[in-house]
Amino acid sequence: MTASFDFTAYTDSFQIAAVSLFDEAATPVEVAGGTYLLVAAVEYDLLCFGDRPALDRVACRPGCQTCCILNVSVLFPEAVAIYRFLKKRLKDSELQLVRERIREVHVRTHWLTDDERIEIHEPCAFLDEHGRCLIHPARPLLCRSVTSLEPDLCVEVVTAPPFSEAVTIPMNLFQKNLMDAAYVGFSSALEALGLDGRAWRLATAVNRLFSVPGATGEFLAGKAISRN
Ligand code: SF4
Repeated sequence: MTASFDFTAYTDSFQIAAVSLFDEAATPVEVAGGTYLLVAAVEYDLLCFGDRPALDRVACRPGCQTCCILNVSVLFPEAVAIYRFLKKRLKDSELQLVRERIREVHVRTHWLTDDERIEIHEPCAFLDEHGRCLIHPARPLLCRSVTSLEPDLCVEVVTAPPFSEAVTIPMNLFQKNLMDAAYVGFSSALEALGLDGRAWRLATAVNRLFSVPGATGEFLAGKAISRN
């Protein structure tokens, strides 16, 4: 099944689903809800169409935070879903700490290239004290896309000195292609609706939601949003 899977057709069908969900979206709750539905759909498709033994070989586990120092791109609605998830799950004191950490990561990493980000080893704002993803149920599609079959190689890559020889990390390619296809379909849907379908840095987008009242309203109004 997975060898013949048509990822281009999947992108197209994901775009159609996203257009139908976001065409009438008028509130932050609907933006977050539409995003949750799309993410649930792609996770369901992963289980339906992915090869079970291959999925079982993925070594990523809670508490492994090796790759959570990379730049992560999100679509703005994904950030809205994360923002609402945090507001619902955390107490005010916890939320304040996370909010400060998001701002710190945004300021430190916003302008960094992918290589520069690896070099400074700045952890994601959403890692908790046990090295687990605080927003795991709401994490971005591109975090879902990255897997590893050999965690030792992940460590080797992120600790290698600059300009080291490239190392290829074996991963579940079906999962990567499926999540990437969903991301592209989602982005195309937003653009087709006149909404912002650009890639945002994760901390920058969530920081904006914490610091700019009405940021989701601006998104829904189709305004080009400043990323500073
Ligand atoms: S959002 Fe979660 S999975 Fe993604 S980089 Fe951050 S901690 Fe890791």
